[in-house]
Amino acid sequence: NIASNSRASMAPVTKPAHDEYDFVVIGGGSGGIAAARRAGSYGKRVALIEHTERLGGTCVNVGCVPKKLMWHAADIAEKVRHATSYGFKGTGVGEPQFNWSEMKAKRDAYIRRLNGIYERNLQSDGVEEHRGHASLVAPNRVRVERPDGVTYELNAKKVCIAVGGRPTIPSDDKIPGASLGIDSDQFFDLDKQPKRVAVVGAGYIAVELAGIFHTLGSETHVLIRHERVLRTFDPAIQDTLTNWMEHTGVNVHKKTQITRVEGQRGGPLTLHLDTGSKLEVDLLLWAIGRHSNTESLNLEPVGVKTTEKGDIVVDEWQQSTVPNVYAIGDVQGKWLLTPVAIAAGRRLSNRLFGPEKFKEDKLVYENIPTVVFSHPPIGTVGLTEPEARQKYGDDKIKIYKSSFRALYFALLDEEHKEPSVYKLIVTGPEERVVGLHIIGLGSDEVTQGFAVAIKMGATKKDFDDTVAIHPTSAEELVTLR
Ligand code: FAD
Ligand code: NDP
Repeated sequence: NIASNSRASMAPVTKPAHDEYDFVVIGGGSGGIAAARRAGSYGKRVALIEHTERLGGTCVNVGCVPKKLMWHAADIAEKVRHATSYGFKGTGVGEPQFNWSEMKAKRDAYIRRLNGIYERNLQSDGVEEHRGHASLVAPNRVRVERPDGVTYELNAKKVCIAVGGRPTIPSDDKIPGASLGIDSDQFFDLDKQPKRVAVVGAGYIAVELAGIFHTLGSETHVLIRHERVLRTFDPAIQDTLTNWMEHTGVNVHKKTQITRVEGQRGGPLTLHLDTGSKLEVDLLLWAIGRHSNTESLNLEPVGVKTTEKGDIVVDEWQQSTVPNVYAIGDVQGKWLLTPVAIAAGRRLSNRLFGPEKFKEDKLVYENIPTVVFSHPPIGTVGLTEPEARQKYGDDKIKIYKSSFRALYFALLDEEHKEPSVYKLIVTGPEERVVGLHIIGLGSDEVTQGFAVAIKMGATKKDFDDTVAIHPTSAEELVTLR
């Protein structure tokens, strides 16, 4: 949540105010802002360096927030379609008329407001904001190159790298014409809705953006390398979502890859596929993963090790291979989620600068809940069934599963009744819950509370001992047999 305050916004400083800082944070996204503000709240001298004009990073500008607003728009479109089944009549009911550019203008204005709030929040915690591209000169020295070309250096007792990542796109050498496609950053620049779209990829971003396009009325193609989407998720989730996408008319092209793209950006494109066929679309969107922004940080000469993929190697305390240089968030390559970056950043600053009680504070990367804003949405915590089988052995786990239709769909035609599938994975004689995987209406909001229970070590009996809330979908989780 965004704490607001009414203090006026100040521009970033143009040179350092101090000879030495306790903490220099590189990157003004989810993780960097959280770490810097927490350190600032302890009265430390903190500088945060961001090279774009917009604070908030990926999540605020080209990720969670504008994406979720688009998901809400798509959700409303679905509800408008459903309205006739609930007795609504009249103009506009049944087939929604969506104005993409009007919605984009409102979305952009909201994001700009958030950018300002983030800036004021930094100031309220006494964090000095620097605008420029940062790189390491030494473990305790950071160079800032301002947009006007002026450079200066900051001395730092400790440095935190939180530069995040960016979308991966195949090179034109590998797939001629690949650069005619856009990525998820550019999705948010689209000011009109494309009629025909191809989304390449099978992960979070592919299913979320394809879901938005399709639900808002674009002819949508999803090109995947294998048989199902979300292959790192539990098989029940993979199957349910892939089948429902197909059922609702998303063209899922399985075992299909693009070999060549012809046409022009913004105009019709011809996609040549390795199946031998061609596909004509107005927009191609690559959603095949992301990679860290580490190339221009001068890490290697300073001794900060990265993986082959470019992620910074850290230990359980977020410390890199150089003492006093830390990395948090997407740049450390695991669990690329905003709350993870924020939690890691706050805990790091608690440990480094906070009171004695926080001296062991760190983020444990286990039982992290996550939601995919697909149609229908997905929530998951803990191990998938294959992971649980591998970790505990086939005879040490038990699966509880339920497939049902949420009451909301009772009045809709059979073909519009979205599926819900709920699955619990438990282990040992005490039946401790080690995995929860749910898909269906409301799963995005249901998951958080159950994540608390699982984090606390809840057993199946604890679930069963909890009185259901009726009529909800969530109650299925406390009545599974
Ligand atoms: P970022 O937020 O990327 O911030 C890094 C910052 O560093 C950027 O502002 C960048 O400009 C700056 N920077 C980079 N290099 C330098 C440099 N050398 N000098 C100065 N500044 C630099 N997560 C969720 O939890 N829920 C969601 O619903 C969700 N949806 C998403 C949807 C999309 C389309 C995408 C792409 C991501 C989504 N994510 C979501 C993931 C989430 O956005 C990231 O996990 C999160 O933003 C990571 O935070 P970070 O601080 O590590 O990096
Ligand atoms: P992901 O890593 O989630 O998924 C990318 C997928 O694309 C891979 O799993 C792979 O699936 C497929 N792929 C990889 N290379 C190719 C290729 N060359 N051609 C075709 N398909 C390919 O990345 P995303 O970009 O979707 O998202 C990045 C991260 O951002 C996510 O992992 C997530 O952590 C975060 N995010 C979180 C969201 C949320 O919390 N709701 C929303 C959006 C992003 P396969 O192996 O099956 O082919």
